[in-house]
Order: sequence, then structure tokens, then C-alpha cells
Amino acid sequence: ESHAMNLADTIRAIPDYPKPGITFRDITTLLGDARAFRRAVDELVQPFAGLKIAKIAGIEARGFILGGAVAHQLSAGFIPVRKKGKLPHETVSITYSLEYGTDEIEVHKDAVKRGERVLLVDDLIATGGTAEGAVNLLSGLGAEVVAACFIVDLPDLGGADKIRRLGVPVRTLVSFA
Ligand code: IMP
Repeated sequence: ESHAMNLADTIRAIPDYPKPGITFRDITTLLGDARAFRRAVDELVQPFAGLKIAKIAGIEARGFILGGAVAHQLSAGFIPVRKKGKLPHETVSITYSLEYGTDEIEVHKDAVKRGERVLLVDDLIATGGTAEGAVNLLSGLGAEVVAACFIVDLPDLGGADKIRRLGVPVRTLVSFA
């Protein structure tokens, strides 16, 4: 469509959240805007149409919202990558580092088959610690992680480059420096 729409303008900045000096990028305003939500999903999937993606792996929680829409668009299945302790069946988990401390995510052991082509989806990449953990978790199950995509990149934190160094291409739509 030809109307100018800047996706970045639909994302709200929350100063000093969750702590002083941090500007939180709030995508709930993008999600609540029908045109922006559709545009973001269309742009995320655009390079991957026809690439035979078997499954989308979405990272809890905002990666579920986008990942479900992306999975539908690509006629792919969906794998929830969850915080520790939420999945009911046998899981594999990975601990990854955050700015301060560590966190743990997990997936069901039978969520992917060996060699299955998986696209990772989340709302935002900052340091890349979460995405790196997810890539390692899925690769460990034998998945081929084809790419990782995010609406927002915070390039100063180096996360997208970190994921590219793992050999996984990264697609982002909006960048806040
Ligand atoms: P990373 O592991 O440092 O790349 O942080 C990315 C994870 O933290 C993603 O799951 C994001 O949803 C979340 N996150 C970090 N900063 C923000 C933000 O400013 N807005 C929304 N989510 C954020």
C-alpha cells in the first residue's frame, strides 16, 4: 500500500523502565494498531516465503503473538520457547546470561525433528542473550535454524551481530540507536 507508515512511530518509548536510564520499547501500541500489526508481520515474513520453513519458534511472551501470526502466514507449525517450568512434557533447557545474572528457557524435547527448518521470532533483540540461548537450544535438538527475525533492533547492544556470528541470518524492521 502506498500510504506512508513508519512502523517506528507506532512503538512507544517508556523512559526509565524497568529502571532509571533504560528506555523500554513498548510494542503493545504497534500490536493495537491494525495496519501496523499487519505491516510488521508482512515485512517479517517477506524474505522467508517459499523457503520451506517447517516451524516458527516464538520466544515467550511477545514472540508468541508475532510468531503465531508469522506461522499462519508461512503455513508453518509453531514451537513455544518458554521460561523454565511452564511446559508440561519432557523438556530441554538452556541457561543464558543476562546483563545481570542468568535466565533459563526451555522447549519440549519432541518439538522439532532432526533437520527441520525453523525460523526464530521475537519482538526485540537487545544483547542477543535470549536469542542465542534459543538458537543453541533448537540446534541442540537437530533443528536447522534458518534465520532469526525481530521487529526491533537495539544495535548498540550488539545482539544482532552476535546471532549473525553464530551463522544465523538476522532480519529486523526498526532500529533504535
Ligand atoms: P536480550 O536477551 O538482551 O537480547 O533481550 C531481549 C529479550 O528481552 C526479548 O525477549 C525482549 O522481549 C526483551 N526486551 C529487552 N528489552 C526490551 C525492550 O526495550 N522492550 C521490549 N522487550 C525488551
